[in-house]
Amino acid sequence: MWFPIPNPSDALLREIRVSQAVARVQQLPTVFAANPLLAMFIAIVYWDHVFRTLLVLFVAAMIVLWTPAILSWRRLRHKVRPLRVSPGNERRALIFSTTAGLLWAMAAFALFPAGGPEERAALVMMMAGLCAGSVAFFSSSPMASIGFYLPFMLTLLAQALTFSSLRSPVLPASIAVFIACALLFTRTTWRQFVENVRVLVERDRLLQEAKESGVQLELMLSRMSDLAMVDELTGLKNRRSFFDDIEPVIAGSRRRGKPIAIALLDLDHFKEINDTHGHAIGDDVLREVAKRIEDTLRQEQIVGRIGGEEFVVLLPDTNPQQALYALERVRKSVGESPIAVSNGASLVITVSSGIAPLADGMTVPVALQHADKAMYRAKALGRNRVEVYGAVEEALLRG
Ligand code: GH3
Ligand code: MG
Ligand code: MG
Repeated sequence: MWFPIPNPSDALLREIRVSQAVARVQQLPTVFAANPLLAMFIAIVYWDHVFRTLLVLFVAAMIVLWTPAILSWRRLRHKVRPLRVSPGNERRALIFSTTAGLLWAMAAFALFPAGGPEERAALVMMMAGLCAGSVAFFSSSPMASIGFYLPFMLTLLAQALTFSSLRSPVLPASIAVFIACALLFTRTTWRQFVENVRVLVERDRLLQEAKESGVQLELMLSRMSDLAMVDELTGLKNRRSFFDDIEPVIAGSRRRGKPIAIALLDLDHFKEINDTHGHAIGDDVLREVAKRIEDTLRQEQIVGRIGGEEFVVLLPDTNPQQALYALERVRKSVGESPIAVSNGASLVITVSSGIAPLADGMTVPVALQHADKAMYRAKALGRNRVEVYGAVEEALLRG
């Protein structure tokens, strides 16, 4: 019977091996009883055919070998289920199974030529049964399976060839019967194995699905929080996240005793673009302007979109003169080359900016008011220019 195992993961393979190793420990009492009992049965059958001392030694060796097994079963049966099969466990299984295999091989070697066809048939029968059992018993460790199985199967094969069993019809018949039994036995365990794997594969798949949906949920949540922070149209920070994000930057600049500038930018006659070309084209322009502003400024200078066609920039470690220089570059990058929009047209748009210093102890809204005043002056002076809040506004304020 064949059934495809869909790419078993390492975790799944480990799980299968642990399941089998645990099953092996659980079966120890049965196997402990089976091996020495079988050895005794064989001793009785061959009692008159071989040296009795040899038979007694064989049974004694079996009892000695399987006693540690039953002791380890007693020790392990209340332990928590292991997470993996340790290399020590593997090694013990290998040594143990090979010793048992060698003992049976010695028995086969000593017993096969002795006895009549019936005794030989019984021997082959039991060996075949043992083979099947060992494969199931040591299935979590293929090496242990082979270690047990090969020594006496090869011995038996060599003996059967030497003492041509074809002369006696009973022996080949019993070999056939017991190979069939062994096959049936391995098939039953194989079915159970396949069933176990199927259950484990299914569990693995469900776990994977649960993990993936967890990841998707995480992605969705982060997307949602991104949406809350980002202006959907331009991808710039929105009003809220701009004001949240500038706080630590302002604090850092102030701690270092550096000046800070804040600038407001407003597109000139933007309404006309909307009115002439439609809102969608207006959106194209806004996107491109946002990109130009961001591309022109340095990374530490924080840009946000705080109104329809109004942008704000915080310039840390920058005095008004340096800010003027930066905003001039922005003005040029926005206004100097036309913007290609989706209806095929190329539109020229300009921007007016106002800069104000964020003096020590001054709040952000106050500095913004100042920047707004400077921007108003830029508009009044003909647009497409940058003005710095200063003496003029202060005089006006006083006036
Ligand atoms: P000024 O030079 O004096 O700033 O002139 P303006 O036309 O830019 O000024 P106004 O404030 O009158 O117009 C702003 C326009 O911006 C009005 C509004 O239709 C448009 N607007 C605001 N938000 C959006 C938006 O998200 N998309 C588009 N396409 N237009 C917007
Ligand atoms: Mg405006
Ligand atoms: Mg405007």
